[in-house]
Amino acid sequence: MTKKMEKKKPEHAPIIGFPPYEGELTVGGIKISQLAERVGSTPFYAYDRALITARIKEMRKYLPANLKIHYAMKANPMPAVVQHLSRIVDGLDLASTGEMAVALDTGMDPALISFAGPGKTEQELSQAIAAGVVINMESAREMENISRIAKQQGRKAKVAIRVNPDFELKSSGMKMGGGPQQFGVDAEQVPDMLKRLAELGLDFIGFHIFSGSQNLKEESLLEAQEKTLALATSLSRHAPNAPKKVNIGGGYGIPYFPGDKAVSLKNLGDGLSVLLQKFHETLPDTEVVIELGRFMVGEAGIYVTKIIDKKTSRGEVYLITDGGMHHHLAASGNFGQLIRKNYPVAIGNKLGGSAKEQVNIVGCLCTPLDRLGDKMTLPVAEVGDYVVLFQSGAYGLSASPTAFLGHPAPKEVLV
Ligand SMILES: *Cc1c(COP(=O)(O)O)cnc(C)c1O
Repeated sequence: MTKKMEKKKPEHAPIIGFPPYEGELTVGGIKISQLAERVGSTPFYAYDRALITARIKEMRKYLPANLKIHYAMKANPMPAVVQHLSRIVDGLDLASTGEMAVALDTGMDPALISFAGPGKTEQELSQAIAAGVVINMESAREMENISRIAKQQGRKAKVAIRVNPDFELKSSGMKMGGGPQQFGVDAEQVPDMLKRLAELGLDFIGFHIFSGSQNLKEESLLEAQEKTLALATSLSRHAPNAPKKVNIGGGYGIPYFPGDKAVSLKNLGDGLSVLLQKFHETLPDTEVVIELGRFMVGEAGIYVTKIIDKKTSRGEVYLITDGGMHHHLAASGNFGQLIRKNYPVAIGNKLGGSAKEQVNIVGCLCTPLDRLGDKMTLPVAEVGDYVVLFQSGAYGLSASPTAFLGHPAPKEVLV
C-alpha cells in the first residue's frame, strides 16, 4: 500500500552533480564531513566550480555560436563565483554599485558590463559613467540625469534602453516585463526617448528586454525571444545608429520540485538559431546577448546544515537544524512563492541509509515560517548529521534576511 502510494508521487529528477563516496555526498571530490571541517562551521553554502564550468560549456555547445552569454550577478554575487564566471562568459550584468565593484574587480572589460535597475541614484550613475559600463536606462528622467552627469565628467556615457515589452513571458516564476511595470520604458514610449537620446548625443549601445525568470517552458521562452527580437528590430528604426547589442533577457529555469522538467538546451538552441538568422537579415552587425543567472549557478550549489535536535511532536518527527530561512529564504517558500514546496534534500553523510522515516526539517528561528522540508521521507538521521539542500546556488544567501533573529551568517565556499 504505502509503496504504491510513494511510487505515485512525481519524483524530483536525480541530482547528478554531487556523487556519493563512502556513503557521503561529495563536492568537487571532497566528502561533506571533510568539507564541513575545512569550512570550520555549519551552516554553509558550497558551490562547485566544475559544475559551473560544465554548465557554460553545455551552453556553448547547444546555443548559437554567435550568441553572447552574460552572467546576471544578482543570482549569486559571491566574489569568487563571479571571478570564476568572468573568465568563461562574455559579460556581466548587474543591478547595483555593490555588484559593480565585484564585477570590476574581476578585470572584465567595462564595456562588457551592463548596469540595470530602476531607481539608480545620481551617485550610482556617476560611478557607472566613470567606470565606463553600459547603463541600461529605465526611464526618460534617468536619461536626462545621465546626460548631465556625463557632461560634468567630460565623458560620453554608454547607454542602452531597457524596454518594457508589449507582451509577457508566459509561465514565468517571476514576471518582469509586459503590462504596467516598474522596470524599463514602455515600448510605445521608446521612439520618443530615442529621439531625445540622439539630441543629447549619448552613445547608443542598444536595447535590453528582460521579461521574466524561472521558466521551464521551452515554447514560452522561444515565443518570448521571437517577440523580443521583432520588437528590437522595429524599435531600431527610430535609433540614431543600428544597435550594437540587443540583450534579449533569459529566464531559463531549473527544476526545483517533483515533476519539474529541466529545459533542453538543444531545443532552445535550435529554436534560437533560426530566430537569430532572421534577425540578422535586418541587423547583421548587432550582437545578440542572453543574460542568465539561476541557470548558470543554481544547480551548482548546496546549502549544508547540521542537525542540532530531533524530536517527536504528536506523531511527527522534527529535525531541527542550525540553519534556516534567514540563510535560505527561497527554500522556506517565502521568496515570492505562492505555496511552499520542498527543495530536494539529502542527509549528506547517510546517502546509503536504507532505514527511512518521514521527517519535517526546520531551522533554528523562533517562527513557524522557518521550514526547510515538510513530510520528507529520508534515511533516519540523528543529531550531528548533515541536512543538505540542493539547487541552492542561486538566490540563496544574498536573497535571505540574515539579520532576522540575530543568528550568525553562514559561510560560503567555492570548491
Ligand atoms: C534577475 C534578473 C536576471 C536573472 O534572472 P535569472 O532567472 O536568475 O536568470 C537577468 N536580468 C535581469 C534584468 C534581472 O533582473
